[in-house]
Amino acid sequence: MSEVFNFCAGPAMLPTPVMAKAQQEFLNWQGTGSSVMELSHRSGIYIAMAEKAEADLRELMSIPDNYKVLFCHGGGRGQFSAVPLNLLPEGKSADYIISGSWSKAAAAEAKNFGNINVIDINQDEQGSASLMSSNDWPLNKDAAYVHYCPNETVNGIEINTIPETNGVPLVADMSSTILSHEVDVSKFGLIYAGAQKNIGPSGLTIVIVREDLLGHAHKATPCIMNYKTAADSDSMYNTPPTYAWYLAGLVFQWLKELGGVKEIAKVNQAKAELLYQAIDQSELYLNHIEAQYRSKMNIPFWLKDDSLNEQFLKESEAAGLTALQGHRIVGGMRASIYNAMPIEGVRALVDFMQEFEKRNS
Ligand code: PMP
Repeated sequence: MSEVFNFCAGPAMLPTPVMAKAQQEFLNWQGTGSSVMELSHRSGIYIAMAEKAEADLRELMSIPDNYKVLFCHGGGRGQFSAVPLNLLPEGKSADYIISGSWSKAAAAEAKNFGNINVIDINQDEQGSASLMSSNDWPLNKDAAYVHYCPNETVNGIEINTIPETNGVPLVADMSSTILSHEVDVSKFGLIYAGAQKNIGPSGLTIVIVREDLLGHAHKATPCIMNYKTAADSDSMYNTPPTYAWYLAGLVFQWLKELGGVKEIAKVNQAKAELLYQAIDQSELYLNHIEAQYRSKMNIPFWLKDDSLNEQFLKESEAAGLTALQGHRIVGGMRASIYNAMPIEGVRALVDFMQEFEKRNS
């Protein structure tokens, strides 16, 4: 086993036991003599696996029966197009809450398909980044839906209470937060997430959609983006990303064995506290996001002396702490600590940061 802790924002680290199991059954899956990736998605054995993965996800997230779970292609950005194509009828508009770079990108894409009302909730005050409270969002009560991103992967900003939209369907891009803590799915019209952070490898996107929102897609919606088509065909209208679906199923089993989302949420809380504490107590590192909006999955930090950035990255990499470079839009460093990152990885990072600070103060 490698000694590396990978802090990449995505594709991200996957649980080691999952990777070991995938490796062990790679050439001969369930006695078929073939790899799972060589089998038809219409074979009984594959369908049984696919159904089990869906059932496990439903159990992990307590997804109510009146929601469909779709296993799609196209990533998070695919959903930036699919959401308005399916949910924004002509003559209506949709509210897009902007809290960082991914929600901004979602709104920019949605503009290609209909009327969008952009609501920027960023509030930067005295060097600290904050957001407008969701109680004060100027929402349009006639909107087709409200779109927001509960965890901004690049900015490290999280909205950790579910906004009240008074009956308007709430759509959430949960790409970097799904399965990291419990959420009440019934409060949402639609949830989507690219797999490559907390679910599995890239290539798969999960959509959880309330049934009454199906069947209203624009006429020109491509079949593979039409939620109703996907729901009616159990996500097998065309060939799904079969290997990613299988691996996601292994991740769901792993999470269930750990005690589910409730248990992993405690570990995630402990990991985030450890790292934020180390940042706040140091003279060298800084995170300027107001405490209540700090992400537990993606933790950006900046070196007050940024001439040390390159050295920090070089030495952390050599210490087996990889992919810590911040996103180019915000600079600095970023530690992505999704479900698969063990607390030992965060401890190793904190130890390194403290030792680096001592050597460079
Ligand atoms: N939304 C969020 C919150 C993301 O973090 C990302 C990717 N990092 C995306 C959307 C885009 O996902 P993809 O690259 O799968 O299109």
